[in-house]
Amino acid sequence: MSSVLESKPAAAPAADAPKAKPQETIDGFHLVIEALKLNGLDTIYGLPGIPITDLTRMAQAEGLRVISFRHEQHAGNAAAAAGFLTGKPGICLTVSAPGFLNGLTALANATTNCFPMILISGSSEREIVDLQQGDYEEMDQLAVAKPLCKAAFRVLHAEDIGVGIARAIRAAVSGRPGGVYLDLPAKLFAQTMEAEAGKRSLIEVVDPAPRQIPAPESVQRALDLLKGAKKPLILLGKGAAYAQADADIRAFVEKTGIPYLPMSMAKGLLPDTHDQSASAARSYVLQEADVVVLVGARLNWLLSHGKGKTWGGPEKGAARQFIQIDIAPTEIDSNVAIAAPVIGDIGSCVAALVAGLGSNWQKPPSDWTGAIADKKDKNLTKMAETLAKRPSPMSFQSALSVVRDMVKARPDAIVVNEGANTLDFARSIVDMYEPRKRLDVGTWGIMGIGMGFSVAAAVTTGKPVIAIEGDSAFGFSGMEVETICRYDLPVCVIVFNNNGVYRGTDKNASGGADVAPTVFVKNARYDKLMEAFGGVGVHATTADELDRALKEAVASGKPTLINAVIDETAGTESGRITSLNPQTAAAKKQ
Ligand code: ADP
Repeated sequence: MSSVLESKPAAAPAADAPKAKPQETIDGFHLVIEALKLNGLDTIYGLPGIPITDLTRMAQAEGLRVISFRHEQHAGNAAAAAGFLTGKPGICLTVSAPGFLNGLTALANATTNCFPMILISGSSEREIVDLQQGDYEEMDQLAVAKPLCKAAFRVLHAEDIGVGIARAIRAAVSGRPGGVYLDLPAKLFAQTMEAEAGKRSLIEVVDPAPRQIPAPESVQRALDLLKGAKKPLILLGKGAAYAQADADIRAFVEKTGIPYLPMSMAKGLLPDTHDQSASAARSYVLQEADVVVLVGARLNWLLSHGKGKTWGGPEKGAARQFIQIDIAPTEIDSNVAIAAPVIGDIGSCVAALVAGLGSNWQKPPSDWTGAIADKKDKNLTKMAETLAKRPSPMSFQSALSVVRDMVKARPDAIVVNEGANTLDFARSIVDMYEPRKRLDVGTWGIMGIGMGFSVAAAVTTGKPVIAIEGDSAFGFSGMEVETICRYDLPVCVIVFNNNGVYRGTDKNASGGADVAPTVFVKNARYDKLMEAFGGVGVHATTADELDRALKEAVASGKPTLINAVIDETAGTESGRITSLNPQTAAAKKQ
């Protein structure tokens, strides 16, 4: 079907009756498509099947970009990453029950990370589902989705499609962004209505994420606190990256002169090489800071809940005060007391703080900034020594030093990163220079985002994507290399292959024939996987080989997978979060 409007001849007129105009109608399929287009949502990440196959075909025919995946979880992850990168909800489209459930992991993850996305799933007939009469792929999807997302809606009538999509968009992007579920039963798609009335029923959402201006007294309270600080610190989170208030954030950091620490997905908001970056003195500044300004960052497990040893112990903790800028008022005091909450959108809040600094603002004491600079120098010198080494087989560090140089040369490239050790090392070794160029495992520390995020990054930006993948992490979404090849996306996947989860040397304690649960097939050739679909596969055993292959991949834009052979004895159990393993935690307590 190529047109939105379908002409249906009216019933045969009587011979003497005046000729009636054929009635123009629009069906549910096209109402969904038109509602998306009207709101500038031009890409669908999904996987066709009953009852939405025709919807994907018609959407493509009507000019939407439809990116088909091999598994819904990765389509969902792509939608979530697209949401983070663009500020518009990413759209994921799935079939009913199992397809919906596969997409749900991504929806829950998007909600956890505050990324806006809409999961649209076809579903079985309400009448049969509610009487539990055993429909094809029967499931009460709305009820299942509700606790796992920010909002969930179902549309039963064609004339409500416009409202359903408008509500989904608003729920996804306003306030704290998140995932929204939209349930569309199979019967809805074939419903028709008069075309003009159909068009009138659609809603173009006005100002979907309105600015939220902070209360002036909250800004003043924050400024008063900041003025008295001896060791202030700014902590930038991925909410700050999402907010696209890059110039205001830069002005706030530079005008105050306060050292800052980016959370992993906030890296690049200011270049990691910025003088005020305290990344290379992270432990020191967290322990010592007396006033901490949280900008779009939650005091969750990633920040040790704002207390304990990471923050210098109870004494320092008692003396420290927090300013927290966030759009969600209920986030405040979630872990420790917040002395000065500033509630609003980050752009407005940060701009108000900058405006309130005044002309006689005093930059932080030089003994604080000087001590940080000393720590940084020492740590960076140590790191440079490690990165200069060229061991054989490669270490995580020697392989990552190659990626570090590449990103320095191409700061517009997007880095996707997942794994355990591969994640930890890459986060600290690979400097970022531009905002929203780093996508990673996020708030849950989840595995499986790799290829979905890579596809979305390439589709939404057209820039080169470098996916830094642990061999275990890659396995979760590896089949999507076919998707990458099919759409000929400029994605270079580097699999850090050390033969297993964490490392490849564990032994089966029973002495039995099975390998240990953490061990994979030795010397696997992941590069062949990319070759199978027409992409470029490279087997790299040295840093030089890796360097050549990566440069070639970024220059050519061809789908590439580099199997980077890493020392199989390298790697720590669970990387830097080994303490979260129950056994390690218990041993520590004893
Ligand atoms: P990180 O993991 O990088 O520390 P989090 O995901 O924990 O970051 O925190 C992001 C925070 O940013 C959330 O509390 C969210 O409510 C907030 N946030 C997201 N978008 C905005 C925005 N536009 N304005 C203000 N706060 C925002």
